[in-house]
Amino acid sequence: MTPTLTRLTDLAARWNLALERELPAARRLRRELHAAPCLSGQEHPARERLVGALSDLISFDRLADAGAVGRTGPADGPSVAIRAELDALPVTELTGASFAASGGVMHACGHDVHQAALVALLRAATRLDLPLGLVGLLQPREESYPSGALEMVQAGVIAEQEIAHVIGAHVHPGVPRGAVASGGGFINAAADEIEIRISGRGGHGAYPHDASDAVAAISHIAIGLPEVVRRTVSPLRPALISVGTLAAGEGAANVLPAEARILATMRTTDPADRATLFDAVREMAERTAQAYGTTATTTRIEGEPALINDPTLASGADDWLARLGVDGAEPMRSLGADDFSYFCDAVPSLMLFVGVETAGEHPQPALHHPRFLPGEDAVDLVARALMAGYLAAAERVLGIEHHRGDSSEPGEDA
Ligand SMILES: [Zn+2]
Repeated sequence: MTPTLTRLTDLAARWNLALERELPAARRLRRELHAAPCLSGQEHPARERLVGALSDLISFDRLADAGAVGRTGPADGPSVAIRAELDALPVTELTGASFAASGGVMHACGHDVHQAALVALLRAATRLDLPLGLVGLLQPREESYPSGALEMVQAGVIAEQEIAHVIGAHVHPGVPRGAVASGGGFINAAADEIEIRISGRGGHGAYPHDASDAVAAISHIAIGLPEVVRRTVSPLRPALISVGTLAAGEGAANVLPAEARILATMRTTDPADRATLFDAVREMAERTAQAYGTTATTTRIEGEPALINDPTLASGADDWLARLGVDGAEPMRSLGADDFSYFCDAVPSLMLFVGVETAGEHPQPALHHPRFLPGEDAVDLVARALMAGYLAAAERVLGIEHHRGDSSEPGEDA
């Protein structure tokens, strides 16, 4: 074992012990945060509570309006960042928990857990001799646009803090409870919104031959969209288009509307597919509209890029999780989206998924469900996942030869 690896292994053991001491307070903090959720763009109170929970140890600078950035360990040189999202959702909570929120806003995505875990991990880290800076990113607006992650990157936080890698961890009911999923490569899709507007000539429902029917055109375009995907993107690279809004007419049965509109989400996992698929949609919409004597205008509202996990960080985190006594799990890949991908675009980064359960619920409520409520042990599992990510990133930055295949038993190094 190299001296640096010995140092990291020793660090992991001491960090784990320090974390144990922080967890009771972190679990209380999680309840408090859960009871006081903030909507996207209005996370200032959550930011102040978190900054307050760390103010005796780490000072934070405001960033991206309601966000903040703080650092512990070496003040200069490369660092590893950990991210926690600050926002909750416009969901009326139905968990029945003693610390449930009221008022139609709820931490239904587990961000309260992520925040408490970040605080616990940062507090524990201040007692240690870290080899690289550890940067806490308190990120606003994960659930809505404009993306808080993009704003942080555009504000220059990566260069300012010399961030080499960013680590994120998200609770997920689809991962076995107590396990953590990593996995290199594609994890989440690029998410763009497509709007198609049809213009024709309205008329009387009894005289369609005298009109240019926007309803007929829009219907054929909606049905044709899956076929465009199939004919443009290899089936070996996941991609889809789903229509969420199809609007035409003002409620009359016998009036043919002149205007119609489709709003669809386009999910792709490859940057080239992202461009060619949109072009193909525009062409199909224009030509179909033309066939019905109408015109189509197609626009794209660009969302987050695909989330690509760095493979070296992913396998490194798996090794560290095993040493910390945490089970691994199959990677959580989906065509969902998370703006953590803007960090992955900026520097090689890693998003981990942490298996949680809502007590007494069968089937388990999904993320964003009004009954979704991870147990308290989720706080320390998220903290350990972030810790494993930091250790893998430090291992990479410090240039330690990757030692997959090491035959030592999990925990033995500690
Ligand atoms: Zn979330």
